[in-house]
Amino acid sequence: MTYDANNIFGKILRGEIPCHKVYEDALCIAFMDVMPQAQGHTLIVPKAGSRNLLDADPAVLGALLPVVQKIARAAKSAFKADGITVMQFNEPAGGQTVFHLHVHVIPRHDGVPLRKHTGAMEAPEVLAAGAAKLKAALAG
Ligand code: AMP
Repeated sequence: MTYDANNIFGKILRGEIPCHKVYEDALCIAFMDVMPQAQGHTLIVPKAGSRNLLDADPAVLGALLPVVQKIARAAKSAFKADGITVMQFNEPAGGQTVFHLHVHVIPRHDGVPLRKHTGAMEAPEVLAAGAAKLKAALAG
């Protein structure tokens, strides 16, 4: 399996489609998941093209985890979470649906299960409000 840049996150990275961006540096961007499994569900996406963890440059992976930590800490504070779930899927059998490497950061609250993926998109104003909270926590 080879990387195909014509995927939805490739399009977001090239600015061809919008996203609720919360963070960007030389290596990656982070934005709100449009079908959040909990409030504040965020995706961290390296700018370098790889399909997933399996074909990624180890140098990219090494630089990515500190960004995941940065977003996780900010999300825990922004959404007053009790914990954070980090998820990353590889290939359809592994649960992957978008074939550009990404890491999920999901704020969790005690006793609250993850929402199921229904295919329904969150309201843009809810995503925008979540992004604003997370950006404020990242800035603070
Ligand atoms: P997966 O490939 O299973 O790790 O999941 C891909 C994730 O991308 C899912 O949680 C989707 O809700 C999310 N997603 C799909 N399209 C977009 C989009 N245009 N903007 C933000 N998130 C998206």
